Amino acid sequence: MTVYGEPISKLPNVGTSIFTTMSQLSSDHGALNLSQGFPDFDADKRLVDLVNHHMKSGRNQYAPSNGIPKLRKEIADLFSDYYGAQINWENNVTITVGATEAIYASLAGLISPGDEVIIFDPSYDSYDPVVRLNGGIPVRLKLRPADFSVDWDQVESRIGANTRIILINSPHNPTGAILEKTDLERLQEIAIKNDLIVVSDEVYHHIIFDGQRHESVLRYPELAMRSVAIFSFGKIFHATGWKVGFAIASETLTREIQKIHQFLTFSVHTPTQFALADYMEEGLQFESISKLFEKKRDLFVDQLDNPRFIPVRSRGTYFQLLKYQDALNDMALATKMTKEARLASIPISVFYEDGFDDHVLRFCFAKEDETIMKAVNILNAYS
Ligand code: PMP
Ligand code: GLN
Repeated sequence: MTVYGEPISKLPNVGTSIFTTMSQLSSDHGALNLSQGFPDFDADKRLVDLVNHHMKSGRNQYAPSNGIPKLRKEIADLFSDYYGAQINWENNVTITVGATEAIYASLAGLISPGDEVIIFDPSYDSYDPVVRLNGGIPVRLKLRPADFSVDWDQVESRIGANTRIILINSPHNPTGAILEKTDLERLQEIAIKNDLIVVSDEVYHHIIFDGQRHESVLRYPELAMRSVAIFSFGKIFHATGWKVGFAIASETLTREIQKIHQFLTFSVHTPTQFALADYMEEGLQFESISKLFEKKRDLFVDQLDNPRFIPVRSRGTYFQLLKYQDALNDMALATKMTKEARLASIPISVFYEDGFDDHVLRFCFAKEDETIMKAVNILNAYS
């Protein structure tokens, strides 16, 4: 058939996301799905009831574009306190459709054609295409393969006249690495010296282990002034399907982000915003969430007993990497394991610009203990 009006692809090299691919393969083969990152336990019933309540009481029309004031105030209060930052709900907080929209709106609002954006590989899958779609040029630098730390000297050496943004993600998906105080201090110095903006994906800020402190850009006043910090209620409240997130940024950066947001989605699901605001008002302890996931990480790692798999200890997020010894590349092993052993994971090479394959798989441990034990038993029996 002749095809009329065939589009010229804006992203010719982009296929279906690895999360969709592996979750589909997992369900096709009845496998245990530790690939895509989502909990297999439910959100708090109280929060679900609150959404119901607000729907039934008629809060069903458009919310204000940038989010309902009560939710933005709760966020501003909590995050100001928690990170010692000065956050004003009216000028600094925008509610978005998940962190995904916050990332898009930030990059779309802040990139001018030809601007370079520094991204660290292995990198979350949306960063590079969003930069390209908005006329930017991704400059992808590898984290150090041994511990996935940032080589800041390398970063400095790659900064040029067109560098505009550094995109960071801590705690880091997919590796579970975290940025430390010294990293943030160096980043602040580099950003100021070169007049850069920092987009900081902090969706796992509440999942950090072994007594470490999350180093938000919001803790560093001079860095915070030139940063966008991005969070996700889906991650905080074990409700990834709700897709509500938010961006915290200076007034000038927020203005540009909101211009994109108003045409991208305009506003976010109204009853959920009211429910989240009420729920936050009742108090929110990030520490208990970290503890919950730390126990799950420990269960996964401590019970694993197969010399073929070597854990790279996760310091945050709900992901655990396993290095493996096998001739197969990571995509082939992840596929084989899903089909034959019925355990799905994510191959890490897809998060590298050059497909670098160090034989590492990612497993999501945001699961009931029983699910984790089933997965570990499969891994222990794997030969
Ligand atoms: N950034 C990272 C690093 C993530 O892992 C995810 C999703 N898991 C997102 C952004 C997107 O978050 P959301 O589901 O709130 O859009
Ligand atoms: N962020 C989730 C992960 O890393 C997936 C989100 C998605 O499917 N887009 O697994």
